[in-house]
Amino acid sequence: MKIAIAGAGAMGCRFGVKLQNAGNDVTLIDNWADHVAAINTTGLTVTADDGTDHVTAMTAAAPQDVTDHFDLIILFTKAMQMDHMLTELGDVLSNQPVVLTLANGIGNIETIEKHVPKNRVVAGTTIWSSSLTGPGHITVTGTGSISLQAIVPNEFPDLPDVLNTFNDAGLNASVAEDVLAAIWKKAGLNSVLNTYCTLFDCNIGEFGALPNWRTLNDAVLDEFQAVADAAKIHFDAQTVTELIAAQFDPTTNGGHYPSMHQDMAKHRPTEVDFLNGYVAKLGAQLNVSAPINANLAQQIHAKESLLGI
Ligand code: NAD
Repeated sequence: MKIAIAGAGAMGCRFGVKLQNAGNDVTLIDNWADHVAAINTTGLTVTADDGTDHVTAMTAAAPQDVTDHFDLIILFTKAMQMDHMLTELGDVLSNQPVVLTLANGIGNIETIEKHVPKNRVVAGTTIWSSSLTGPGHITVTGTGSISLQAIVPNEFPDLPDVLNTFNDAGLNASVAEDVLAAIWKKAGLNSVLNTYCTLFDCNIGEFGALPNWRTLNDAVLDEFQAVADAAKIHFDAQTVTELIAAQFDPTTNGGHYPSMHQDMAKHRPTEVDFLNGYVAKLGAQLNVSAPINANLAQQIHAKESLLGI
């Protein structure tokens, strides 16, 4: 399959190298000029679990330099970069490729629908992980899986091809029965763990050891529940709370600093407007008040401002 990864950061590069190694024709599209140059001159370096480096020759380009058309475009920008990337892709989208995103946050489907017919869009979630260590260099640990679904399933006959492409590359993809529910579940988890760990400068295990973690958790998820109910999206705050509690153990994710914490540490913008901020905004539209999520988003923005982000 001819595949473009639009937004070839930590995750885009991890997926790109696996899809290319499985025989697909992969182009990495990215706006970070030093990263694109490093990949084109010395290849993409992947540091594996055991510390060994694997270098793969790959093709990378800035969006404005891409003229090819693709069967599949995987959007792996951060949520707030997606609209700009789709605008920059312009004519690259004119052959109506399948456009797929597994980015975190709520609202990405609405962003894609501004640029791509709804019946060409696939969305989902993933528990694969990766870190961008520097230009042309990612560090990866463990394995993962993908859960995805077409936004209009009965108008999308290509899903088996997409699933086979991912599974042939060892990416462990399966069909989500209710993709919006899966996206909201992950966003609920991120809106608790990412946001509080970033504000408190702690890891997931340290958050879980706080005597009042449950009060903090419930303040966020009770509002998620009310907004999801009003929007008629399946959400179960209790299930998300159990998922969050399962991350505290040091043998699972207890020692891990969530991605928002890493973004803040690298002085990069966070995805909070597509997590707590999105729920506050949607709540306001639906006359469901979500003041805790609105305030948490403002606290993250205040921290970004103090760091000059
Ligand atoms: P990333 O920050 O590594 O890359 C996103 C974009 O930012 C890329 O275009 C990248 O080139 C650019 N970028 C990053 N650092 C830069 C720098 N110093 N200068 C200029 N540009 C820079 O993002 P990611 O971690 O790959 O995440 C993509 C999406 O996937 C997000 O929605 C994220 O929440 C989600 N996600 C990430 C992980 C993970 O483990 N990284 C896991 C699951 C989901």
